[in-house]
Amino acid sequence: MAELPEIAKYTAQMDETLRGRVMADVVILQEKCCNIPPDELVARIRGAAVTRVQYRGKWITHTLDNGETILLNYGMGADVIFAEAGTPDPEKYQIKVVFTDGTFYTAKFWWFGMFHLCPTADVDNHPSYKDVALDPFNSAFTEEYFAQLLSGKRTQVKSFMLNQKNIGGIGNMYAHDILWEARLHPQTKISAMTEAEVLGLYGAIQKVLGASRDRGSFEWEKDFHGQPGGWGGEGRDDFKVGYLEGEPCPRCATAIIMLKTGSTSSYLCPQCQVLA
Ligand SMILES: [Zn+2]
Repeated sequence: MAELPEIAKYTAQMDETLRGRVMADVVILQEKCCNIPPDELVARIRGAAVTRVQYRGKWITHTLDNGETILLNYGMGADVIFAEAGTPDPEKYQIKVVFTDGTFYTAKFWWFGMFHLCPTADVDNHPSYKDVALDPFNSAFTEEYFAQLLSGKRTQVKSFMLNQKNIGGIGNMYAHDILWEARLHPQTKISAMTEAEVLGLYGAIQKVLGASRDRGSFEWEKDFHGQPGGWGGEGRDDFKVGYLEGEPCPRCATAIIMLKTGSTSSYLCPQCQVLA
């Protein structure tokens, strides 16, 4: 799943690669990816140039110079890959965006992704984009901001963290190791956390997401140029507890367990992450 380190990387690559390119066509093979009829979508973006690519949470936007904005969401994961003019199409894709110079990119969603169009002036009213909260790479996401965000909350820490209305960009994949770093059981109630635990969680979020970003993000996901990242590969110890059921905890050697926590599974060390 593309989470903050991946989305931030792909956004930077897209901004560098697509800025100034002019939309010639969009091939839409899966209509339910779109929020408006495909014919209308194509008509509204044809001839417009990309002025800027940005992200918010797990959404990547292309601002166009005609007052429209494309909103792209990878869903559970996707290969969104740029190609030079004349490159054959990949075997499978749902969306293909073609530019006037013949270059293009294709989006192959692993499960279900979204390719929406919205007038730029209305982007902040888009139903699933508008409420996405500040992400941990944002300079305004400070310790003070984080402490304030958690203040008075009574929900369980993991479900709070995964809710995009609270924190943008964190998904299940990085959550396991973030909670392990912070020595918090996923079902810990925020109201039961000490000030030190809140600051510890802040530090763990920055540490885990930052380590992946610094290493070029998750290895199993291809970037905009088709290259894998450098974090989380087989045989390396990038994951501390995530997906490592039965393996020893790197801190205390206790066997890592998997727990069903609400709608997600959680990997944790039962010794280091005790539910108070
Ligand atoms: Zn442990």
